[in-house]
Amino acid sequence: MKIYDISLPISPNLPVWPGDPKIELEQIASMDKGDDANVSRIAAGVHIGTHVDAPHHFLNDGRTVENLKLDILTGTAFVLHLDDDVDIITAKILDAAPIPPSTLRLLLRTRNSHQWTSDSRNFDPYFVAISADGAEWLVAHDIQLVGVDYLSVAPFDAPIPTHQILLKAGIIALEGCDLSQVPQGKYELYCLPLKLVGSDGAPARAILVGGVEN
Ligand SMILES: [Zn+2]
Repeated sequence: MKIYDISLPISPNLPVWPGDPKIELEQIASMDKGDDANVSRIAAGVHIGTHVDAPHHFLNDGRTVENLKLDILTGTAFVLHLDDDVDIITAKILDAAPIPPSTLRLLLRTRNSHQWTSDSRNFDPYFVAISADGAEWLVAHDIQLVGVDYLSVAPFDAPIPTHQILLKAGIIALEGCDLSQVPQGKYELYCLPLKLVGSDGAPARAILVGGVEN
């Protein structure tokens, strides 16, 4: 049984959304310096690396991340490969894609995933994301969780519509997946966001297990 760790490594090297706080992860007690134990601290926004968005992020409706359903966050998922020349994921592209009819969790691999294998760690505003009509397509096809391989499900210049459409429908947005090593196909997804009370999002460890190449 193969396990793909699709989580990004959290460190100050990870690109963060423009305007969000930088990731601080530092040791504050050190055995090398005579302390009894090594202790680190972290300070960061909650939308860092591989993370989920709760509806409260764009709807201000009190549906926060600790209440997201674990039975949506875990279960069978389909990883779809999109060609490197896809700039935006539209309804037309999703319609033409070989997504199995009963898919509830859909992870979209685009050219974004190449970024996670390179040394480039600057924020890229030209990342591939889901258009508003692509989001409508996901709602119409009963998708419950959608994963993308950059830091937002929505295009940089139009963050609101895609997020609102997905979150209103109760679709969990899993953002910042590294799908660079994952062949197209079906897997078991285990996505476990930190149980941050009252938060609009949370970093998650996410893995895909198994898989049959399509
Ligand atoms: Zn987010």
